[in-house]
Amino acid sequence: MSGYHSPQVDVPIRLNTNESPFPPPEQWVEQLGKIARDINWNRYPDRGAHALREEIARRHGVDAAQVFVANGSNEVLQTILLTYGGYGRTVATFEPTYQMYSQIAKVTGADVVAGERRADMTLDPLEIKRVVDEHQPAVTFLCNPNNPTGLVEPQANLDALLSIATGIVVVDEAYAEFSEWSAMGMVNEDRGLVVTRTFSKTLSMAALRVGYVVAPTWVVADLQIAALPYHLDAFKQQATLAALTYTDEMNHRVSIIKEQRSRIESTLAGLDIEVWPSGSNFILFRPRSQEANVVWQALLDAGILVRDCSSWPRLSGCLRVTVGTVQENTAFLGAMNTIMGH
Ligand code: PMP
Repeated sequence: MSGYHSPQVDVPIRLNTNESPFPPPEQWVEQLGKIARDINWNRYPDRGAHALREEIARRHGVDAAQVFVANGSNEVLQTILLTYGGYGRTVATFEPTYQMYSQIAKVTGADVVAGERRADMTLDPLEIKRVVDEHQPAVTFLCNPNNPTGLVEPQANLDALLSIATGIVVVDEAYAEFSEWSAMGMVNEDRGLVVTRTFSKTLSMAALRVGYVVAPTWVVADLQIAALPYHLDAFKQQATLAALTYTDEMNHRVSIIKEQRSRIESTLAGLDIEVWPSGSNFILFRPRSQEANVVWQALLDAGILVRDCSSWPRLSGCLRVTVGTVQENTAFLGAMNTIMGH
């Protein structure tokens, strides 16, 4: 196997990994010193992360026993796959989608079945049915909005999947705050639907590494068996609790990013570029009259790094740009204008 890598290049404008372009609130950063001083560093942290789980649960109107928190939603995904994947079981994805689903599933020894999206990147409910009927997956992933396409998954597709699902259904909502709908309200005790979220995107805390899942209590109890003892350190638990007091400010930022997203979408569409409508903080696009790798290099020469997806299966000719600050987007669109010869 080879690892999952997001090539980093030292450039002034980084629009390649779907982070927030804004630093976290300054008051939060100032609070961190006091948080660090107040911790009993010689003692293990609260293994159940009770206070943090209670606060997350309160925000979603669920019980703390329905919340599991880990080091980034990647670790949440890993814990789900350690619990329900593994040798002799099948994990289903619908490609192209976030590559870590199949990567982690394979690491656990599971078989991975790749369902296919249509050429326009939308997902046919008949394909969902085919995959479930043929393979009875222990875990099935839907990413809403989907990375790397940015497309919002219609709720009808999740309904179709839930009506026939044989195991756990994971809806990865890493970008939910930028989207039109959420499956969060659909989680209940009677089925294996779980919804994952992250602090890395909207909450501007990719460096902190926090993510969580809202799930039936029996799933959370299972996940706690697979998780390592004390996997969530004391500082992170307190820092995350403090971060949750700034969600209003964060929601304001979401509206700025959505405005900028429309600006990028419409400008690119006017430059002979195929653009997929995004419900996220990034946009997938395919230049029609230029090779993707030529465009990628020309952007890099202009000090702008975007994600080159053109060598990934099913994404030939595609690049992905993360919505940045107004100034970063201006620089990106200006460079694109020049590169596309307008
Ligand atoms: N899910 C999706 C769809 C993502 O794009 C990402 C980040 N690239 C993650 C999960 C993982 O995010 P994190 O581990 O930072 O929470």
